[in-house]
Amino acid sequence: MKIPFIDLKTQFRQVENRVRKKIDQILEHGQFILGPEVTELEEKLAEFCQVKHAITCSSGTDGLLMSLMALDVGPGDMVFTTPFTFIATAEVIALLGATPVFVDVDPQTYNLDPARLKNLLAELAKGQTAALPAPIAEQVQAGVIRPKGIISVDLFGLPAKYDALQDIAQEYGLFLIEDGAQSFGAVYQGKKACSLAQLGCTSFFPAKPLGCYGDGGAVFTDDDALAAELLSIRVHGKGRHKYDNRRIGLNGRLDTLQAAILLAKLDIFPREVEMRSKVAQRYLQGLKAAAPGIVLPEVPEGRTSVWAQFSIQVPDRLALQGALRRAGIPTAIYYELPLHLQQAFAHLGYDPGSMPVSEQIAQRIVSLPMHPYLEEKVQDRIIKEVCSACR
Ligand SMILES: *Cc1c(COP(=O)(O)O)cnc(C)c1O
Repeated sequence: MKIPFIDLKTQFRQVENRVRKKIDQILEHGQFILGPEVTELEEKLAEFCQVKHAITCSSGTDGLLMSLMALDVGPGDMVFTTPFTFIATAEVIALLGATPVFVDVDPQTYNLDPARLKNLLAELAKGQTAALPAPIAEQVQAGVIRPKGIISVDLFGLPAKYDALQDIAQEYGLFLIEDGAQSFGAVYQGKKACSLAQLGCTSFFPAKPLGCYGDGGAVFTDDDALAAELLSIRVHGKGRHKYDNRRIGLNGRLDTLQAAILLAKLDIFPREVEMRSKVAQRYLQGLKAAAPGIVLPEVPEGRTSVWAQFSIQVPDRLALQGALRRAGIPTAIYYELPLHLQQAFAHLGYDPGSMPVSEQIAQRIVSLPMHPYLEEKVQDRIIKEVCSACR
């Protein structure tokens, strides 16, 4: 039997009746766009995250884009973010004509390192640009661009260090957006992921901890004015109605059918979060035997991870992947090439070596099968294979 990397089929069996019933209801009522299921989902998501507003949207990427649009981000704005993330995080910054500025990550959590960000901002405040690549430094020196905000990412399901990030945002007058595409369901100091910044965004891409059967996303905020702006942006910048357009917006809506699927999955989600945690704890326990040949993920005090990925670092990734492949065990790499070295961002002028922590992690990281329905005996096989390959 083939071991799946993420087992959506077994999950479907848990929600099948509810999903089919809800889809049937929608086929009958016919409100395919912004139907009652969308409103119901938004209420439940807001309650889950303990925030005032949850605004669903067409994808995690569009959630980030809409958030930046609501904050009026555009040419002249520098937005600080991590290079060790999915392209969408920084893509949306560039898409609006703003400048992504990368800050290397913390070697333990793989999340944006607040100390490095603080240093960079302190230098910029003194007019120093030595830490920036030439094309960005020149624009700073010319006064063409200036710091505007931060997008932090909760990588692999672990929230970033929000107390420190909030302090920095406050001190320098920057906005803070939480890219919680991987962390929906995680907790930071008693608060839910996606509620940890001015705006929190998540993704319902099928492979995320809470996924639908297509593309989807949501933005979370306690700020009434930002929520109103997001609702307008989501429907072509609508004013009083769709044909009264007060600003430039998008078609950024979540389909009613996807909302219905998410409603069915949200019912079992808290249990799935516990099951994910149990799987992760068994990995951590079982893989200790492979130390010091591998680096295991760490969850700092006061946080929980929702384990979107279970990622380890090994010195010889190719060998491990080969051994696991021969044993029928799939692996994945998030991410092979940090964003500052992607061709899409070549114009920013970052050189290899400029983000050493991210670059080293990118060479060693590998993710193991991870989902709530991973059976113990299958997991034991994976653990055994990893241990023997790394010894
Ligand atoms: C998946 C992901 C996104 C984008 O979400 P989509 O729904 O695929 O658009 C953004 N940021 C991070 C960190 C992600 O993992």
